[in-house]
Amino acid sequence: NVSRLDAAWSVLYQLEQAGFQAYLVGGCVRDMLLGNSPDDYDVATNALPSEVQELFPRTVPTGIRHGTVTVLMGDERIEVTTFRTEGEYADSRRPASVKYVSTLEVDLSRRDFTINAMAMDRHGRIIDPFEGRADLQKKTIRAVGEPEKRFQEDALRMLRAIRFAVVLHFSIEERTWLAITENAGNLSRISRERIRDEWNKIILSDIQVGIQLLNKAGLFDVVFPDVPLQSPRKLMQAAEFAKRLPEKIALRQAALFRQLSVGETAVQKILRELRQPNALIRSVISILRAIPDVDPLTWTDAAWRRYLYCHGKDIALDAFLIVGYIRVEKQNLILNKLYESIQKQPIWSVKDLTVTGQDLIAELNIPPDPVIGHILERLTELVLENPLCNTRQSLLAAAREMYENL
Ligand code: ATP
Ligand code: MG
Repeated sequence: NVSRLDAAWSVLYQLEQAGFQAYLVGGCVRDMLLGNSPDDYDVATNALPSEVQELFPRTVPTGIRHGTVTVLMGDERIEVTTFRTEGEYADSRRPASVKYVSTLEVDLSRRDFTINAMAMDRHGRIIDPFEGRADLQKKTIRAVGEPEKRFQEDALRMLRAIRFAVVLHFSIEERTWLAITENAGNLSRISRERIRDEWNKIILSDIQVGIQLLNKAGLFDVVFPDVPLQSPRKLMQAAEFAKRLPEKIALRQAALFRQLSVGETAVQKILRELRQPNALIRSVISILRAIPDVDPLTWTDAAWRRYLYCHGKDIALDAFLIVGYIRVEKQNLILNKLYESIQKQPIWSVKDLTVTGQDLIAELNIPPDPVIGHILERLTELVLENPLCNTRQSLLAAAREMYENL
């Protein structure tokens, strides 16, 4: 995003012109050195939040308690944070207070991993006190400082280590890994929302490596305390299965639960407890419900039509991606049959009938009462049974007969 980078550069420049130090820091520096384009740019400065607010005409105090002011530049938003350390950590969660410090180095030392603890100045020079660049080269996730201590300060960092390893295809340095395995249980003190955000990044990435690392570290059971205990073999088979599917959270989550034999009620509870949005939970459940128990190649054409009418096209497509891998030897046959059935599907809802409730009232002299809804429903069944019936003439005739026989 070029204009966002321009905006970030302009923020650095203006802070420097005003006599402050200012650097790009954290994830954006890592991503630029990797040749990836960052999603957003964070700036660190020795200017106090009030000074940042004075300097820029449009600001929002988005995280003022942590020293963060968001500067608005055109349509872009740049987060500017005053150099700080984190005070005492009461309970492996969030620092109880933040303290401003005068140097960039101290600010960098509070960051989680060496690859996230680099800064870049306005001239593109890299400030790298913890050898993050070397770790980028070695494709290594390494805690800044004492891993034990850093994970005891903030247990979420353990999950972040795995997320970065998965997303970047890096490995986790030995001592950092050891400290994760020894402190895994502390992740349960972290808010479910923060855990969810990391999990959602893992599931969209290499879910197989992700689940393997989570399980080896002892973190899987903390992320999913209500998933019944699984053998590592079954867990890895499920992960391998989910990985083949497109990168969509609902689809992969449904596939995982299905392969781990987690039932609908448990699925609902687990996802609620992980604070996943209701829309996502509904999708997962709908996909699971749409996975047929029997081989769909044994279905009649009418059974296909009823299936599609019941579940809808999008959910059917997702469910059949899963079905295709369950019955992998017939995958092509099954998917082709699905696509063909979607093409031929006569109606997707009552609105696709060639008659409306209004038509029935007018043409058949039926009073507008609940009977209309009932007749329309029977007409959809008729059309799903025999698509040729979906003409105005046949449906009106059928409706008349239904009404007379009520
Ligand atoms: P991405 O935005 O791609 O997920 P990121 O590295 O930018 O990755 P953010 O959560 O945006 O991650 O955090 C920005 C920076 O803040 C990190 O690069 C790191 O330096 C620091 N940071 C974030 N979370 C923590 C944490 N829990 N402990 C220590 N430092 C952290
Ligand atoms: Mg970021």
